[in-house]
Amino acid sequence: MKKYSITLLRGDGIGPEIVDEAVKVLKAVSEKYGFSLEFTPALIGGAAIDATGVPLPQETVDQCLASDAVLLGAVGGPKWDSQPGNNRPEKGLLGIRAAMGLFANLRPAVVYSPLADASPLKPEIIGDSMDVMIVRELTGGIYFGTRGRETAEDGTLSAYDTERYSVPEIERIAHVAFETAMKRGKKVTSVDKANVLESSRLWRETVTRIAEQYPEVELNHQYVDNAAMQLCRNPKQFDVLLTSNIFGDILSDEASQIAGSIGMLASSSMGEAGKPGLYEPIHGSAPDIAGKGIANPLATILSAGMLLRYSLGEVEAADAIEAAVKKVLDDGIRTPDIAKPTETPVSTAVMGDAVVAAL
Ligand code: NAD
Repeated sequence: MKKYSITLLRGDGIGPEIVDEAVKVLKAVSEKYGFSLEFTPALIGGAAIDATGVPLPQETVDQCLASDAVLLGAVGGPKWDSQPGNNRPEKGLLGIRAAMGLFANLRPAVVYSPLADASPLKPEIIGDSMDVMIVRELTGGIYFGTRGRETAEDGTLSAYDTERYSVPEIERIAHVAFETAMKRGKKVTSVDKANVLESSRLWRETVTRIAEQYPEVELNHQYVDNAAMQLCRNPKQFDVLLTSNIFGDILSDEASQIAGSIGMLASSSMGEAGKPGLYEPIHGSAPDIAGKGIANPLATILSAGMLLRYSLGEVEAADAIEAAVKKVLDDGIRTPDIAKPTETPVSTAVMGDAVVAAL
């Protein structure tokens, strides 16, 4: 029997509650599909500060690097807001992404048909569903480029940031996008600002060249301003959206708003092939509802599904989790964040149990 090791970073706030539900689902699906999962918890964020004084202990880094994949809840909360900037819970998150070399962020923006009215878009635009995958470069570009401030001789202060991408950086994220598209709708839209930026012109040239290795995938290019507009105007035209770090930061938040419910959206961050990936919901630690047993665990459960698909290659089990989530939604089972006033919401644990039952 195949055996995989998974590090659990429960984190803070609702993190432990939602990760526990995902573990329930992972255990059930692994029994059904005949593989075994070994779970090892490790500390991150505020919980790690409380126990060790720092948000990312070295043991956590070592544990994550030694496992097949990492499942994270969320970090942060008011308890640690007074920590100095370099010792805040969020530093743990940035630290683990860097330590694991995670250069690709995959964020599906999915609208499930029973929740279509959660989207702020009109029904004639969103229809009964939407399924876009944003592939964002995560460790390059303007967020990591040279920056600084200068004072001119006349005393005028200015500041600058630099967008820089190398060909290998663009190539590796382009491969992730094309390979992802091969498993989906075989269409990549690459986002840039090649009418103005030199870094975008190199981006476009490189993506176009890599596309030749994927003749089955249709490639088109959109300027970022147009892509932002098209996401609102006609999101169904997209399959995989390939973006730089900054463009993806902005467009993925826009896409998640179009999808509607923050408690439904999963994500994965990946490094070099064969290295462990990190899977987490896109929402935060929701301190306002922590400990109440009402958090929506579906984003974390869907992140666990992505973990099976992309890190372990257990595609059937991943499909089963997605189908089970669709079934509980079809059956009208809702946590408070996605329930209509006329519906009686269920708890975090009941939602987890319902997904297990639907498997
Ligand atoms: P948040 O995503 O935690 O919460 C925003 C709103 O959405 C809240 O009303 C919350 O109750 C609700 N919500 C979020 N997830 C939910 C779920 N699964 N089910 C039901 N409702 C849900 O964002 P915030 O309030 O801006 O941040 C809270 C803390 O989380 C801060 O400390 C922030 O730094 C941290 N944070 C962490 C991450 C992460 O770990 N990746 C991401 C964003 C924010």
